[in-house]
Amino acid sequence: MASLTLFEKIILGEIPAKKVYEDEWALAFYDINPQAPVHVLVIPKKKARNFSELSAWSHEEVAHYMNAIQKTIEILAIKEKGYRLVFNTGDFGGQSVDYLHAHILGGRSLSWPPG
Ligand code: AMP
Repeated sequence: MASLTLFEKIILGEIPAKKVYEDEWALAFYDINPQAPVHVLVIPKKKARNFSELSAWSHEEVAHYMNAIQKTIEILAIKEKGYRLVFNTGDFGGQSVDYLHAHILGGRSLSWPPG
């Protein structure tokens, strides 16, 4: 069996994480190396390696994941000021953990382009 990724271990509770939101479909927790005052990751409980693999999911499954991201944004109280959502994907996208995750970044004005 392939070894588990870091984020699967967080879902299983084998590695601790500071949780922001959790439901049947997804888990949100603070990034260990924050790039903004608010930096949270949202991962689905159903395995996907990256954003492109979402095309194999049902619309309902994708909606549940998006809903968890929305709920997390509400809990973080960053909706009014604004925020950035990022799905780093693959080598060129700078993805370092091979398990789908959305970065939610906020709490300050973010520069663009991202370098
Ligand atoms: P990416 O580069 O898009 O794959 O993002 C992976 C993110 O996971 C990085 O922002 C890391 O800081 C974050 N990270 C790595 N290990 C942990 C951990 N144990 N708990 C929370 N976040 C982590």
